[in-house]
Amino acid sequence: MLAPAVRHMAFERADGAPFAFVPGQFVQIHFNYADGKPTKRSYSVATIGDGSAVGRIEIAVSYVEGGAATNLLANLPDGGMVDASGPYGRFCLDDKDANRRYLLVATGTGVTPYRAMLPQLDKLGARGAEVALVYGARNETELLYSEEFEAFAKKNPHFHFYACFSRAPRSQPRAHDRNGRVHVALDELKPDATHDIAYLCGNPDMVDQAFAMLKEAGLPVPHIRREKYVSSR
Ligand SMILES: Cc1cc2nc3c(=O)[nH]c(=O)nc-3n(C[C@H](O)[C@H](O)[C@H](O)COP(=O)(O)OP(=O)(O)OC[C@H]3O[C@@H](n4cnc5c(N)ncnc54)[C@H](O)[C@@H]3O)c2cc1C
Repeated sequence: MLAPAVRHMAFERADGAPFAFVPGQFVQIHFNYADGKPTKRSYSVATIGDGSAVGRIEIAVSYVEGGAATNLLANLPDGGMVDASGPYGRFCLDDKDANRRYLLVATGTGVTPYRAMLPQLDKLGARGAEVALVYGARNETELLYSEEFEAFAKKNPHFHFYACFSRAPRSQPRAHDRNGRVHVALDELKPDATHDIAYLCGNPDMVDQAFAMLKEAGLPVPHIRREKYVSSR
C-alpha cells in the first residue's frame, strides 16, 4: 500500500516479453462485470522509464468505493493475472518543445506519469529547463512516491517539488509544503505564456480548474496538456 487506499502493483507480461512504452502513457485492464458484460479501465504506467522497454509494468491503483476495477485489483493475489492492452495515450513529453519551464500538476495517482518521466525530467536540466511538480493531496498519508520526488529534487536543482495539502498539513511541515489546493502553488509560480508548458493529471475537477487558471494566465491551449482520470465504460 502506498497510501491507505492506494495499492502499488507490478505486472510482467505472461509471455515474458518486455513492455515498450513512452513515459506518460497508460494501459487498459480488461475484465467483465458480474453480469458478464465486458469493460475496461485505464491506469497510467508508473514504471520509471527512459523510453526503452521495461520488464515490469507498475501501476498505482486508487480504491474507489464500489468500483468494479477496484474490486478486481484490490482482491488480486500475488501472482494473479489480468488481461491488459496498451500502451495508449499522448500525455508525454515532446522532444520538440523548447520551453524554459514545465509546470507538472497532479492529484492522487495522477502523479504516476511524472514518476515514469523522471529520467526524461533529469535530462531537461541539461538544456536549461526548469521543472516544477505541484502535487495535491488531502494529507500526508495520501502523498504518493513523495520520498522519491524529494530525493530527485535534492539531486537536481532544476526540479522543484511542491506538496499541497488540501485538508491537513504535514505533522512536520517541510519547506516545499503548501496549505491548500494546487492552485496555491500555481499562483506562486506565476504561470507565464512566454516560457511555460503545463501538464495536468488526475481528478477531473482539478484538471478543469487548473486548465481555466492557466488559460486565464495566457497559456495557449496546446501548451496545457491534460489527462483526466475518468472511468471508461
Ligand atoms: C487515461 C486514464 C488514466 C488513469 N490512470 C489511473 C491510475 O493510474 N490510477 C488510478 O487509480 N486510476 C486511474 N484512472 C481511473 C481508472 O481508470 C478508473 O476509473 C478508477 O480506477 C475507478 O474504476 P472502478 O472500476 O474501480 O470504479 P467504477 O466502477 O468505474 O466506479 C464506481 C463509482 O465510483 C465513481 N468513481 C469512478 N472513479 C472515481 C474516482 N476516481 N473518484 C471518485 N469516484 C469515482 C463512479 O462514478 C461510480 O459511481 C485513469 C483513468 C484514465 C482515463
